[in-house]
Amino acid sequence: TALVGATPPADNHSAFLRAQDAIPGGVNSPVRAYGSVGGDPRFLTSARGPYVTDVAGREYVDLVGSWGPALLGHAHPEVVAAVQEAASRGLSFGAPTIGEVELAEEIRRRVPAAEHVRLVSTGTEATMTAVRLARGVTGRPLVVKFAGCYHGHVDALLAEAGSGVATLAMPGSAGVTEAAAAETLVLPYNDLDAVEAVFAAHGDRIAAVITESAPANMGVVPPAPGFNAGLRRLTSQHGALLVLDEVLTGFRVSDAGYWGLARAQGEDWTPDLFTFGKVVGGGMPVAALAGAASVMDHLAPTGPVYQAGTLSGNPVAVAAGLATLRLADDLVYDRVSEVAGTVSTALEEALDAEGVPHRVQRVGSLFSVFFGEAAARDGVASFADARAQDVFRHRPFFHAMLDAGVNLPPSLFEAWFCSAAHDEEAVGRILEALPAAARAAAAA
Ligand code: PMP
Repeated sequence: TALVGATPPADNHSAFLRAQDAIPGGVNSPVRAYGSVGGDPRFLTSARGPYVTDVAGREYVDLVGSWGPALLGHAHPEVVAAVQEAASRGLSFGAPTIGEVELAEEIRRRVPAAEHVRLVSTGTEATMTAVRLARGVTGRPLVVKFAGCYHGHVDALLAEAGSGVATLAMPGSAGVTEAAAAETLVLPYNDLDAVEAVFAAHGDRIAAVITESAPANMGVVPPAPGFNAGLRRLTSQHGALLVLDEVLTGFRVSDAGYWGLARAQGEDWTPDLFTFGKVVGGGMPVAALAGAASVMDHLAPTGPVYQAGTLSGNPVAVAAGLATLRLADDLVYDRVSEVAGTVSTALEEALDAEGVPHRVQRVGSLFSVFFGEAAARDGVASFADARAQDVFRHRPFFHAMLDAGVNLPPSLFEAWFCSAAHDEEAVGRILEALPAAARAAAAA
């Protein structure tokens, strides 16, 4: 009997046709489709270190990094060994394990304000539970989010969302009821006056403000100085919770995420709840909701807010997350930052050389490029700014990089993901590809 998938199609185009016949749009997550750049998404067969290989046998330097988890690069041998060892002891128990406790303790060691930790399988589950918990704790209905921030595909959080929702230029999602939409208040990012006004109008009905610690789903848009601290002040004044979504930034931009980076730079604010994902699972399905014990303990079985999961804290997935965090030491964070610095500087130089107006924005090791005069002149502080860029330059830029063997996120509304496995050879291949891509962007 033939093994499933033993004879994969040898080119991406036939793979994509076959996929579209079986799967909506041929992909299991919209961001994987080449929606805004056109062409066939690369169907991958393997990934190792800084490289991925497609069904045609072509290797690319990867700057997608599984959309964030691959901090150490793909298939780090020690992570793979930990997964194999865990798998050999059983795939899922539906009972507590010491590994889950160790992962919760490791998260708390890095982020002391994460006093209690509940493991889930996806970032979406973490933010969904954060919203329910905030409503359960406060007894209030409303949630404030910011345009351009993406928090997973939670009904309450899809309005004016970033990531794939932005790439597809959708205002939100069909299937979200008017009632659910009415309980979400969407404000412009980096606009503390708007937050103040919304609290003045609805303060006693707002359960929580949720924000990306440093948004990276509308491209990378750093918080203005004092913005996160201002959110903390206003939520505290009005008895609402502050939920800091670090699914993307957590354990990536520093050993303690964006919150740790901000504290190292002298900021002094702490959210009630954190959400983590991506790096915390090391490429396997682990995410987490964490925060003040007094809030977290409202979750069942200690409290009245229900949340559960057959595969929550899955032992194989937890092994990948633990191994990844244990390997993610200062050297790893230094290397990822160094790679981000080298690549982002070369990107700016290549675009400057071709006279392409642009702005590269960076938060720690996360960066992205915005095309256009306005972005170049004023920077990008909000979703409105991000959407106003010269989007048409991205398609030729992206494909020139892909032709040269560099796999970028196929959207301007995403960050470039570097890893500690991007060595001189891999970085060199990215730098070599940039001038021709900049020329293609200039000609657009
Ligand atoms: N929050 C943020 C900030 C994210 O970047 C993402 C995923 N890109 C999510 C939540 C949702 O995570 P998941 O895709 O694992 O559901």
